[in-house]
Amino acid sequence: MKEDVALKFGKGQISGIISAMLGILGLCGVLCFRFPDVFTSEQFRAAYTQDFARNLLFWGLITAYIMGIISYALNQSKVLAWIGIGTAFLASLLGGSRIEVSPYESTAYSFGLDWFVISFIFSMLIFIPIEKAFALRKDQKILRKGWRLDLTYFIVSHLLIQFIFLWTNLFAANAFGWAATADLQSTIRSMPIWVQFIIAVFLADLFQYWTHRFHHKFGFLWKFHSIHHSSESMDWLAGSRTHLVEIFMTRAMVMVPLYVCGFSEPALNAYVVLVGVQAVAIHANLGLNFGPLRYILATPQFHHWHHAKDAEYCDANYAVHLPVIDMIFGTYRCPKGKWPDEYGIMAGEPPPGFWQQTLHPYRRPKKK
Ligand SMILES: [Zn+2]
Ligand SMILES: [Zn+2]
Repeated sequence: MKEDVALKFGKGQISGIISAMLGILGLCGVLCFRFPDVFTSEQFRAAYTQDFARNLLFWGLITAYIMGIISYALNQSKVLAWIGIGTAFLASLLGGSRIEVSPYESTAYSFGLDWFVISFIFSMLIFIPIEKAFALRKDQKILRKGWRLDLTYFIVSHLLIQFIFLWTNLFAANAFGWAATADLQSTIRSMPIWVQFIIAVFLADLFQYWTHRFHHKFGFLWKFHSIHHSSESMDWLAGSRTHLVEIFMTRAMVMVPLYVCGFSEPALNAYVVLVGVQAVAIHANLGLNFGPLRYILATPQFHHWHHAKDAEYCDANYAVHLPVIDMIFGTYRCPKGKWPDEYGIMAGEPPPGFWQQTLHPYRRPKKK
C-alpha cells in the first residue's frame, strides 16, 4: 500500500483498509488459537481471557466481511476487498472464533503474535480518533510518509516481546542479582502499592534517562538511536521506530532497579500499563497542552521537542515518564505553547528500510 495517501469518505478506501487489516489480524488470531505455544507469549496470556480473545476475533471477522462488501461496492479497485474477505474467509474455514485451543506447553521461546494483534487494534481504536479530534498538525495523513516502516518496527518489536523479557531478566539477575537482597525487597513490599508505583516509575525513568542520554553522547550508541530520531512525522506509530539492539539495551537497564527492588505485582502491572500508554502518547500527533500536568508527566509537547530538528532541543528532554528528571539534570526544555517546526536528524540520516536500518550501526561510513 502507498504512503502519503489522503483517505476520503465514500471512495471505498477506508472500508477496504479496515477489511484487509481485520481479515489479516483475524487470521493471526486463529493462528494464536491453533499454535499457542509458537505464537502467544507466556507473560501476555495472563493479561486476557479466552472469551475476550474469541469475542474480539468474532467481531473482527464480522467487520472484515461487512467492510469488504462495502469497499467492493464503492471502490473501483477491488484488491483490498478481496484481501479482507479472502483472509476473513480463510480464518473462518480454519475455525473462526469457535476454534478449539490446541493443547500446548508453556514455552520460553515463542512469538507475541497475540500481543501484536491486541495492542495494534486497541492502539488504533484509542489513538486515531483522539489524534483526529485534537490534532497538532491537522493536515497530517494517517497513511503519512514512513508509516510502512514504522508498522514493520511495531510488528517486529511486539513479536519479540518474550525474547526481550527473557533477556532483560537474565541480564538483571546475572549482573545485579547481588544487590537484590531480601531485606531491601521486604522493605519495598511493605510500602503501599501507590508508593511502590511512584518509586518504580521514578527509578525506571532515571535508568532510562541515563541510558538515553548516553545514546545521544556516544557515537556508536547514537548510530542505533538515530533510527528512532529519523521519523519526520510524529503520531501514535512513530515511536515504534526503534532499533532492536536499542530496545534490548534500554529495556535491560530499566529492568535493573525493578528487579533489584522486587516491587509487588500490582505496582509493576501499573508501571507496565503506564509504559505502554505513555510510549505511544508522547509521540502522538496531539496538540493538547495538559495544563499543570505537563510538569508531572511527559507529554507529547515535551517529547516532540526531543525529536525537533533543532540543535538547541534535540539533546534535551530525555525522560519518558517524569520531566522532573530532566529538571534535576538541567536538560528540561519545553517552551510554553510552542512546538517544533520540523522533526528528524540534523545530519547523518540513516538509510531507508527496515533491514538497511538494522544493519546501519555495523556499517562503516562511506568515504567521500
Ligand atoms: Zn533521543
Ligand atoms: Zn521518541
